[in-house]
Amino acid sequence: MGRMPISAFRVKNQGQTEDSQCRRRVRFRAARWSVLLAGMSAGAQGSTMIQPLHFFVEDALIQAIPLAQWNDRLLRMVARADQLLCYEMNRAEKARGCDLRIGEGVKVTPFDRSLEDGLRRTWSEGKTAPGALNQDGLNFLFDQTDPSERRIFVVRRLLSCDGNRVEALACTRFFEPATVLAFDGQLFPIDNAVTLLHELGHQVGLKDVPDPHSLMYRGRPVPRAGTKMNAAEAAAFRKLLTLSW
Ligand SMILES: [Zn+2]
Repeated sequence: MGRMPISAFRVKNQGQTEDSQCRRRVRFRAARWSVLLAGMSAGAQGSTMIQPLHFFVEDALIQAIPLAQWNDRLLRMVARADQLLCYEMNRAEKARGCDLRIGEGVKVTPFDRSLEDGLRRTWSEGKTAPGALNQDGLNFLFDQTDPSERRIFVVRRLLSCDGNRVEALACTRFFEPATVLAFDGQLFPIDNAVTLLHELGHQVGLKDVPDPHSLMYRGRPVPRAGTKMNAAEAAAFRKLLTLSW
């Protein structure tokens, strides 16, 4: 099967460029949305759940921040992403209510031994360090999938995506149920909710677009200005309901 790794929100100079500005903007916007959405989601009926999201947190991150805190922050991030998905799908489809939810059944666990051992084998000649993935490490994680869930691997740094040696915040292969997120020891639940949704968009086959107002904007060269999706993208997100299409 042809695999097409893609990247999202590539950053330069370890995240200190345009993406940092992007984070602040998105935080403000998402905060307003959460107020708007508070009443809407409460009345949703007949919602449909996707396969659960399962976050695996790498050892190097848990040594810096206890797993319980990662659990709290990741769940908050998913809750924000859930609200944002509802808002944007309703806007795209001119609908009301939220019939596709991603916030239920979320699991957060440490990397297990097989993941840690597998990653360790990808560290070569001091080129990478614990928590920092090269392309080999990335490809290894992409192959660790399970048909019962969508997997989000949380690591400290991602040094490559799509074979390009650029530092990235996230990477996903098209149409595959695995994403790697790099938080470098920090996690901002609201901002990273946008990253999570963008990557889930790649899991259902959506590609990056040049419009800064779009959810599928890749985050450069200008700061992100919105998270809109069109009707076709909203329809694609419904593929989250199944792992086989
Ligand atoms: Zn992308």
